[in-house]
Amino acid sequence: MNSRKHKYTQIIKTEAKNLGFFACGISKARFLEEEAENLENWLKKGYNAEMQYMENHFEKRLNPKLLVPGAKSVISLLYPYYPQTLQKHKDAPVLSKYAYGEDYHFVLKDKMKKLMTAINEKIGEVNGRAFTDSAPVLDKKWAELSGTAWRGKHSGMLTKQGSFFFIGEIIIDLELQYDIPANNYCGTCTRCIDACPTQAITEPYKIDARKCISYLTVEFKGSLPEELKTKFKNRVFGCDICQDVCPHNRNPVIHNEQRFIPDPELLEMTKSEWHEITEDIFKKLFKKSAVKRTKFKGLKRNLDFIKQ
Ligand code: SF4
Ligand code: SF4
Repeated sequence: MNSRKHKYTQIIKTEAKNLGFFACGISKARFLEEEAENLENWLKKGYNAEMQYMENHFEKRLNPKLLVPGAKSVISLLYPYYPQTLQKHKDAPVLSKYAYGEDYHFVLKDKMKKLMTAINEKIGEVNGRAFTDSAPVLDKKWAELSGTAWRGKHSGMLTKQGSFFFIGEIIIDLELQYDIPANNYCGTCTRCIDACPTQAITEPYKIDARKCISYLTVEFKGSLPEELKTKFKNRVFGCDICQDVCPHNRNPVIHNEQRFIPDPELLEMTKSEWHEITEDIFKKLFKKSAVKRTKFKGLKRNLDFIKQ
C-alpha cells in the first residue's frame, strides 16, 4: 500500500509540475481544530471588515470532509504570477501584479481541472474538488501544512522563491504520502511591517483589513477612509508593498503563462491616461481581468482618491 501511495503521489506531483505549478505539497484531510479559535477571534475583532463571506460556512472552512465526502488528502498547489514586464511609467497609478492578466480564478480552475483529469486517467476514478479562493477553504493553512509555503508576518504566504503566487487546492478521497509542514523563515525580519504605509499589519501575522490598501481598493465598496488619503502610495488596485520589500522576493519565480500577459497598452499607460480612462477603455483593458471586480465605478473611485 505504501508503494502505491508513493507512486500516486509522484504521479500527481509530476503532473502538477508539467502544468506549471512550481510547488505541490500534500496534507492529510482533517478537521482543523487549531484554527477554530483563531478564525473566531479574527471575526470577533471585525478584522474581516465587509468580507461577510468569511463568517459563512464556519464548519466547512475547518473541515474538508464536509466539502468532499470521504476526503483523505488536500493537495496544495502554487502557481506563479510575477510578470515578465512591469508598468513602464513610475508615476502612473500602480496596479497589483496579480491583476495584470486574465483573472487567476479561471486560469487556476482550468489547470486544476486538467490535473484532476490526469489523476483520473493515470490513477483511476477518484472523487475530488478543486478550489481557489472560491469556496470556504483555509488555503493558507493547508499550504503551510503541505510544506509548500509559510505564513509571513504580512499574513500572506511565501516561499524561498518569493510570494508572488496563487494558491489552489484539490481535496480528494485518495490516500497519499503526506509532506511535513513548512518552516517559517521570516526570522527577525520586520520589513513588511515597517514598509506598510497604513500600518495595517497591527502585529506580526495580523492584518486589519479595514486599513489594508489591497482590501480597500479591491473588495471594499464604500467611500475610502479620508485619514488614509495621503498614505495610498499611488495604488489603484491592490498594493504589493509588503511583498515588494520582502527579502525572499529578490528573485521571484516569473510566470510563463500566456493568459497572465496583459494587454500591451496597459503597461504603457501614463499617469494622465490612467486618470482619463473611459468606460470603453476599461472594458477593453480589463475584459477578463480581476480588475473587473471593482467595476468601472470602483476603479474611478480609487483613481479619484489617489489623484494629486
Ligand atoms: S497590502 Fe499594502 S496596505 Fe496591505 S498590509 Fe501589505 S503593505 Fe500594508
Ligand atoms: S518581509 Fe520579512 S517578515 Fe515580512 S514576510 Fe518577508 S521575510 Fe517575513
